[in-house]
Amino acid sequence: MADKKKDPKDDDDYDFFAPHPHPTKVRVKNSFFNMVPDAFSGKSIDFKEDPRRTPTKKPNKNIADAPEEEKKEEEKKEEEAPPVEEKLEAEAIVIQEANPWDQSDTSAQSRLFLKGGRIVNDDQSFDADVYIEDGIIKQVGNNLVIPGGSRTIDARGKLIMPGGIDTHTHMQLPFMGTFAVDDFYSGTKAALAGGTTMIIDFVLDQKNVSLLEAYDKWRNWADGKVCCDYGLHVGVTWWSDQVSKEMEVLCKEKGINSFKVFLAYKDVFMLEDDEVYQTFVRCRELGAIGMVHAENGHLIAEKSQEMIARGITGPEGHEMCRPEEVEGEAVNRAVTIASQANCPLYICKIMSRTAANALANSRRKGNVVFGEPIAASLGTDGTHYWNKCWRHGAGHVMGPPLRPDSTTPGYLMDLLANNDLQVTGTDNCTFNADQKALGKDDFRKIPNGVNGVEDRMSVIWEKGVASGKMDPCRFVAVTSTNAAKIFNIYPQKGRIAVGSDADIVIWDPKATRTISAKTHHQAVDFNIFEGMTCHGVPEYVITNGHVVLDEGQLRVTQGMGRFIPTPCNSEIAFSRIRERERTCQPCKVERDGYDGPVAKIDGNAPEMITKTSNPILSADAGSDKFNSHCRPTTSSGGRNLHDSSFSLSGAQYDDKQAKRPSTRTLNPPGGRSDGIW
Ligand SMILES: [Zn+2]
Repeated sequence: MADKKKDPKDDDDYDFFAPHPHPTKVRVKNSFFNMVPDAFSGKSIDFKEDPRRTPTKKPNKNIADAPEEEKKEEEKKEEEAPPVEEKLEAEAIVIQEANPWDQSDTSAQSRLFLKGGRIVNDDQSFDADVYIEDGIIKQVGNNLVIPGGSRTIDARGKLIMPGGIDTHTHMQLPFMGTFAVDDFYSGTKAALAGGTTMIIDFVLDQKNVSLLEAYDKWRNWADGKVCCDYGLHVGVTWWSDQVSKEMEVLCKEKGINSFKVFLAYKDVFMLEDDEVYQTFVRCRELGAIGMVHAENGHLIAEKSQEMIARGITGPEGHEMCRPEEVEGEAVNRAVTIASQANCPLYICKIMSRTAANALANSRRKGNVVFGEPIAASLGTDGTHYWNKCWRHGAGHVMGPPLRPDSTTPGYLMDLLANNDLQVTGTDNCTFNADQKALGKDDFRKIPNGVNGVEDRMSVIWEKGVASGKMDPCRFVAVTSTNAAKIFNIYPQKGRIAVGSDADIVIWDPKATRTISAKTHHQAVDFNIFEGMTCHGVPEYVITNGHVVLDEGQLRVTQGMGRFIPTPCNSEIAFSRIRERERTCQPCKVERDGYDGPVAKIDGNAPEMITKTSNPILSADAGSDKFNSHCRPTTSSGGRNLHDSSFSLSGAQYDDKQAKRPSTRTLNPPGGRSDGIW
């Protein structure tokens, strides 16, 4: 440890935190706090009173691959997740003193002692030990007093980091007539193998399906299968009063704080701009985050037909019918709509430089926007669509697509390192070769989706940290902490601190592994990172206090993960929004009323302000009624001179008049333009 002073525990009056940020709160005397400067002040929360906290699940006894020692654990009565409350009370923040001798209702197997590692949080790293009991981090520091019977894990030379949070997965998604092969079991198992201890999946059903029914469907799929904790976003694929009401129920009773709209997938998931606006207004009212799939669905529909007409039916057509501009335009549009609705916006899947720049520029203008590049866009590129092997190309098909500009991954990593982008997901949505082959003669029928949930952490470490673009703290921020903050589960998740969930990865930054579909834990038969050697390997992975990856051995328990409710009004998204709501309302100008004469409407006067009076829109432009003017005539019947007689559509009011022959003027007024030089 860098800062080793004389042992402060000898001095009962030692007051490391003076002046304390919460002077009325319980003060800490336990020695371990004093050993790590600034590590714990105000960062520990007593979760006992936290309504969000669901009890730690004990492993299912009847699951074959449950570890032996965990099977012995006493079955604890599991309670339903309590309803979500609006916000943690500030008063709930206390510095919690763990009582290492309180052994009630815990068994030795749930006690873990991580010794000798370096803790990495998003804001600092320091050498300290960690003591875990019953799924919760109970002590962090040096010279901890540990009860007997704890398992000790030697973490010397390793980094102890918050487990990854994958913000974007689609396990067993029904899509394009088939189901994604990685379900909530194999998907979360693979996540844990790679150091990710929580996923946030999408409830995504067809138009006109009740959002609440869809939510129940996904909960039923997930609850019995997940090996790690999970949360849910809900897709809004249609708009109505019913949808608006159900959004409120989802926020207030079901633990949802994010809704996704699609600007692509025309006729399937896509909403029009006015519906997107209304969804975002509703999100802001509820304290939920608006999410968007940003691509122009109308353009894609047109251009994909053009590709087919040209005989381009392979995976390259998938990229060419939706180039970068199509993504960038939609990012700009989404930002504009969200800004008008004063709604915080989260852009899923940043795949191109154009989209990333649009997002970064909007942040510089003050918009509350977050951007999510994914493992695929950070780790590989779209040149694969041109691969001669059809299966190889199709294996990379996803929307928005990877970009053929091979500098894209490095560029996105630069922006991620410098906080122009903030979070990383994967859009993990996997299909086997035979499923991808549904589109063997027409790229439009290739199911969209790639892997990533297992490899995200290693790929980002390799391309971000091992390349020198970001430090380990930033790595933790973009793989875990920022997601926890945006979706309002921080510091329960996303931090190594007393009171936080024991979702931990013990990371070996020096070890390497080579990614391959032959060795990965996902159900899919293809891996877009095939052959990539990554530095940074998880040596141990701990979820809810259980060691699931143990020196390379994966031992998971189906159904052991919990649904984590995500409360509304996350601070990082809504503190600015609420202030703007208060201070930035449009105001009317107070003025004396106009008391002069007002023209009478003459019912017989020709209505000039109509669509048909404009040649751009006129259906009868060739008739005698043709009139290019939008403004009414003057009171004497003459043409309103404020009205332009020129039309941008190309058709002009005098098109039908005979053109006079061209006139050549040898010496025009002002002089000739040639001959000067
Ligand atoms: Zn997705």
